[in-house]
Amino acid sequence: MYNLRLLRLLRHSVITKSAGRALTHSPPCRLLASHHKRRPQLGAVPSDQLDQLKADYLDRRSELSNEDWHRVRNILTDSYKYINGSNVDAVVLGLCSSAEKLPLAKSYLSYLQAQGIEPNAATLGRLLRVYNAAYHTRTLSDEEQAEIVHICDTLQGAHETLDASSCEHLIHGLVATKQHWQRAVPLLDMMKVTSAPSVAAYSTLAAKAFSAEQPELAWRLLEEMLQARKLPKCEVYLAHLAQSAQQAQTLGAQLERLLLFLERHDIVISDLVAQQLLALAQRLPQQLQVTATRLDRMGKCGACQQHLQHVAISDAQFAELRESFLAKVLIRNDVFQKSTPQEVARFKQYVEQTAPYDCVIDGLNVAYSTGNKKPPQQLAKLLATVVRYFKERRKRVLVLGRQHMRNWSKPAMQYIQNNASVFLTNNLTHDDPFLLYATLHSGQDTDFFSRDLMRSHAFLLGSELKAVFRRWQQEHQYSLVTQTQTGQIIVKEPIRYRLSAHKVGNVWHVPCCEAYTPNPPESFEVPEKWLCLSIAQNVV
Ligand SMILES: [Zn+2]
Repeated sequence: MYNLRLLRLLRHSVITKSAGRALTHSPPCRLLASHHKRRPQLGAVPSDQLDQLKADYLDRRSELSNEDWHRVRNILTDSYKYINGSNVDAVVLGLCSSAEKLPLAKSYLSYLQAQGIEPNAATLGRLLRVYNAAYHTRTLSDEEQAEIVHICDTLQGAHETLDASSCEHLIHGLVATKQHWQRAVPLLDMMKVTSAPSVAAYSTLAAKAFSAEQPELAWRLLEEMLQARKLPKCEVYLAHLAQSAQQAQTLGAQLERLLLFLERHDIVISDLVAQQLLALAQRLPQQLQVTATRLDRMGKCGACQQHLQHVAISDAQFAELRESFLAKVLIRNDVFQKSTPQEVARFKQYVEQTAPYDCVIDGLNVAYSTGNKKPPQQLAKLLATVVRYFKERRKRVLVLGRQHMRNWSKPAMQYIQNNASVFLTNNLTHDDPFLLYATLHSGQDTDFFSRDLMRSHAFLLGSELKAVFRRWQQEHQYSLVTQTQTGQIIVKEPIRYRLSAHKVGNVWHVPCCEAYTPNPPESFEVPEKWLCLSIAQNVV
């Protein structure tokens, strides 16, 4: 199983990733570093054989004779359909990718040299990754750093523009050097020619910038990656903390900046980063106190006994959100493409006449939330049950739906009509903008009912207002958890206190998760673990 995975990884990184796309404005032969486009056919993979190969030749070895390397190369090209003369070298280096195998990887390069085989860009890129792996376990010697620079010079000298994958390899190589890491900055820009720079490229460079005392560059990269919806890896925060810890005088200010960044971008730190903060507080108790804590049901911190801040936004923020939503989402978004201007005008007029509501329900979203294969009678009944839920709480409700819902079960639809305002759009319409328009128009106390996470709408608002939108959404979004066998519904009510890092008085509360994930869920769940953190005022 392990081998199969390893091979898939190798196949992906060596073959797919190195397949560069030619650009049209320069001669392609000098333009891109790698040209392997062969699509692998993964047939029956003799994975035992790979294990055997590693055990026989690569494990616990720091060099091989030229004869042995020759054998390794032949075994790989003979045994695997997708390994051929042009990618076998990169595959071998992929097998030597761990930090301690750097001497072995270099031994392979010596073998290639002895055979008069010029390593291609993918191979050299792989080698840079092995240097990078070693760099994460120890400081590289001057000689090793010079070797990295030499490889980078070779690659950059041979190609005017490098493809994104080669740029990424070079960035990972250069950050392992003391003097030349800044050469990685323009390479990150070069990556943008063919694709968005990866989380790994951004993170490793930002971490290096913190370690090398270039915090402004690091923060710029972090803001840029967040703008591109990429979440920094833990190594960035660890580098920031390690660097900040060296200067007790500015530690408080540095931490404050980090925490404000986490707050602004709604970032939940991993356990690894949390442990680092706890360790830092143990080392510097005069400057920093950190306690791992949990919240009670009402959002009270178990350590300092303070309640987390209410999530509500201010009147001014709400007014700004409402206006921006209209300008950026309702007008710019494809709402007019999916429905007619007449329909939008009819809807606005309807809302003018019937608002305000206490809750706006996305009828179709609710009806389909327990599966869309159910008979219309059941869909209508579920929607009616949700309407009843609010009716029993004396709430004034607007149900948004589609014309085809008119054909659903008569009694249930009749109940909905009698107990809610109902607006049915044509069958092509996107419902979210209508839902958000009606809710925002209705005022700051109005809630909405939908399972949709509204990501794209939030994103269109820009990073500052996105955070405001998220807070508003958290405070006002209801959704259906499930319907029981007896037809009862379980409703998820909004969480009223803030779930992102924020300060209560002088105490920061920072949500934590188990491990880094590039795409954390955007639903509103209360994190189990938090840090309760105070920075001594005199050093801020
Ligand atoms: Zn606390």
